[in-house]
Amino acid sequence: MKLDYMQRLTLGITIAKEKWPVGVYMTEVAHDDWCAFHKGKKCSCVPNINITIDDKKFYIDEEGVLHERPN
Ligand SMILES: [Zn+2]
Repeated sequence: MKLDYMQRLTLGITIAKEKWPVGVYMTEVAHDDWCAFHKGKKCSCVPNINITIDDKKFYIDEEGVLHERPN
């Protein structure tokens, strides 16, 4: 089953919270320019999801798995 971005975000943050239960979380969901999300509709792209936890950077892939991002 293809995950929507909210499911990916929830999965990724769940993984992160197990490892870093305390920290400042900043999330960024970047939709493509043509995505229906920008017209107030359901997301029609596969957005890039980035998370910053304190000074560590991560992204969440299409399966909802959290990956560390090289600086
Ligand atoms: Zn989208």
